[in-house]
Amino acid sequence: MHETSVVSRAIPALKQPIHVTSPLLPDIQNLHVRLREVWEKKWVTNNGEQHRQLEEALKNYLEIDEISLFNNGTLALVLGIKTLELTGEVITTPFTFPATVQALDWNGLTPIFCDIEKDSWNIDAYKIESLITDKTSAILAVHVFGNPCNVVKIQEIAEKYHLKVIYDGAHAFGTKINNKPISRYGDMTMLSFHATKLFNTIEGGALIFNDPALIEKVNSLKNFGLVSPEEVKFSGLNAKMNEIQASVGLEVLKIIDEERTKRDHIRRTYENELDEVPGIRIVTMHHKESSSYQYFVIEINENEFGRSRDWVHEEFKNYNVFTRRYFTPLCSDFAWYSHLSSAHKKNLPQAYKTVSETLSMPFYGGLEKEDVIRICEILKSFYSKVVQ
Ligand SMILES: *Cc1c(COP(=O)(O)O)cnc(C)c1O
Repeated sequence: MHETSVVSRAIPALKQPIHVTSPLLPDIQNLHVRLREVWEKKWVTNNGEQHRQLEEALKNYLEIDEISLFNNGTLALVLGIKTLELTGEVITTPFTFPATVQALDWNGLTPIFCDIEKDSWNIDAYKIESLITDKTSAILAVHVFGNPCNVVKIQEIAEKYHLKVIYDGAHAFGTKINNKPISRYGDMTMLSFHATKLFNTIEGGALIFNDPALIEKVNSLKNFGLVSPEEVKFSGLNAKMNEIQASVGLEVLKIIDEERTKRDHIRRTYENELDEVPGIRIVTMHHKESSSYQYFVIEINENEFGRSRDWVHEEFKNYNVFTRRYFTPLCSDFAWYSHLSSAHKKNLPQAYKTVSETLSMPFYGGLEKEDVIRICEILKSFYSKVVQ
């Protein structure tokens, strides 16, 4: 039985509301200088100067061969899938943001949901094979919270069954494995540059990949399928990044390393403070992987901690701390997937467990160390020992 004590609020609430994230905004003066250039040239979208500069800068920063910029990550994924000409069924994860599976919907593809790993919360590569049918054309995996999937095992399966692999890397800006950029794995990786993401262009995204043969098609698909001013080769969309977005991106890129360093300090503070708390687990990085510092997520085991994740999420609000329950609901819970057997709860035990136990904590460079410590103290004060 749980202790029925009234919660003491000995720790004062934070003075200002603290949210999960806060957009990384560049220096306004520098941005102004750049925008003035754009205004003078009057070239405001369609592969302008800022756009070209940002592509080059990101190729260098991310150590990648090919990049195509988009007006958001969702359309990048929709058109990445279109580029690879996938058909039928695509094996994916239910524990992700709706955009991942909606990108399949918009391509007329059926998601087949695969359960996730207990530790990393990514697609369980060892469960993929049993879901492959003669309709399967690809695996769409997500590097959840910036932690890399089991890319080696996924590649092995893809080669064995001649499947394409596309990664939703919305959280994985700058993530590396064995010192190699994450995009070395799979046919394509999508990045999101939404304001809530580590690197942002307010709204924006990209496809990154290794095969130079794909670039012309990708660039055409985001520009109405045009390959020259009067030739339409593909059924495309309008998904181009404009010069204002690219200008923001170039200025944000200048401060990204500083932001990562700050987030690393915040991560260490959280880890030190929460290390010994029974029932609280912090997702651990696999060996030799560098983090994207996108989110800081904890897992709350109700039996050991004495309080449920939902209780903690609600109670934090009384202290002006606004955490997030990513990714509630699971994508497999969407009404239009209820006919899929892979979407049934009994086939996704780990995903259901994880989605009820994980909590995204405030995590951004501007967060003061003392506030992080306060948040941890509040959390620790929630601990409610189980009376045997
Ligand atoms: C943010 C996000 C997206 C969507 O990206 P947008 O740039 O907002 O369109 C897709 N997948 C995941 C996992 C995300 O977190």
